[in-house]
Amino acid sequence: MTSTAPADVQKLIRPLKSSIKRLLQELVRTNSVAILSGGDEMAAQRVLQGFFRDQGIRAELYDTAFITDSGFAQVRKNKSYVGRKNLSVRLQGSGRGKSLLLNGHIDTVPAGKGAWSRSPWSGQFSQGRIHGLGSFDMKAGLAANAAMVCALKRAGIKTGGDIFFESVVDEEWGGGGGTIAARLRGDTADACVIPEGTQLEIYRATRGGFVVDLVVDAGDPSGYFSTAEVVSPAMPIGRLLGWVAELAKKRSKLKSKSAYKKFADPVPVQVLAVESNRLDADVPLSVPSRATVRVYLQFLPEEDVDAIIASLRRQLETFCASDPFFAKYPVQWLPLIGGPLYGHEVASDHPWLQCMEQSAERVLGKTAITTAAPYPCDAGLIHRDFGIPTLLFGPCGAGAHNPDEYVEFDSVIKTAEVLLTAALSWANG
Ligand SMILES: [Zn+2]
Repeated sequence: MTSTAPADVQKLIRPLKSSIKRLLQELVRTNSVAILSGGDEMAAQRVLQGFFRDQGIRAELYDTAFITDSGFAQVRKNKSYVGRKNLSVRLQGSGRGKSLLLNGHIDTVPAGKGAWSRSPWSGQFSQGRIHGLGSFDMKAGLAANAAMVCALKRAGIKTGGDIFFESVVDEEWGGGGGTIAARLRGDTADACVIPEGTQLEIYRATRGGFVVDLVVDAGDPSGYFSTAEVVSPAMPIGRLLGWVAELAKKRSKLKSKSAYKKFADPVPVQVLAVESNRLDADVPLSVPSRATVRVYLQFLPEEDVDAIIASLRRQLETFCASDPFFAKYPVQWLPLIGGPLYGHEVASDHPWLQCMEQSAERVLGKTAITTAAPYPCDAGLIHRDFGIPTLLFGPCGAGAHNPDEYVEFDSVIKTAEVLLTAALSWANG
């Protein structure tokens, strides 16, 4: 592998600093919220396309709706892809090197009901941070990817292998639709990096994930003002929560052999929400007839996710059969987004990982930490289903999926420098 001195890489990125900052602010100010059933990412994709145009780079927008009829098993059935386009840039290499894919998602989760100190769309820059929804997850990563592509183009550097930039739709909510469209379309590479927020650490693995609503419909609320027995699922779900707590305890004892070895709780089981009636002031004093426990399960890359889910369903049935209330009113198993996401892992001695580790060390001036992601993402799809070894490396920040999200702007530039160093080494090696 050839390597470029950090000072030379800095020289290539520095002139782009202010335009990358403006791009990131504009992206944050542009709504690209996805909800469970769909999303409208087009305005933000056009911001990116305009940025590339100003830099003399052609960026192609293409439809993703074709995946609905593709027959690909992991396409979500409950989502619409009509009008949702991916954006792609290709820097053609000389053909004498390995290719690299820079993937990132443009969609964000909704702003939520929590209180934001500034507008989620402020894009405000203060004390080194850019604030707003999607700043950290992951418009900053897209900006870093864009910086790296522009640096190559401006300097007229032709790498050996091709460099692909893609901004995909539908990553949040475990969609994967944008990434699936990109791969089914045929865009492939010898390696991939996704600059999700990683605090400038390298993540060589991601977890699988699955969200399921455990729903109990019970009783007849009209019984409340009568002499009949009042049946409600509200108290029995305490026992259901106990079942989930037992499961969490059992799972927490699992020892990982993978990149998750050092995680205190490598496979968290979380309750995301419990609902049985509402506490809103305008809801009368009534008996609930439905109760829901939303459970978020995560899985190690080496686990057989489908077998575990099947076994959990059987265990839940056994639990219900042994409980007089749930024997009568069984717990329904309703997956929130459909099937699970699967994790992935890049081997600790893989050449792409070595390349990223060396590049990060050169730019950051210290040994880069290599660990594993505390979340699932599109990396599992890219690596597991399409055979492209995928690493995560991205900026520092906080508040992803929460109010007051921000990203440290200097770390966005550092990310771009590390990615450029890695790309020059990988694609010319
Ligand atoms: Zn993300």
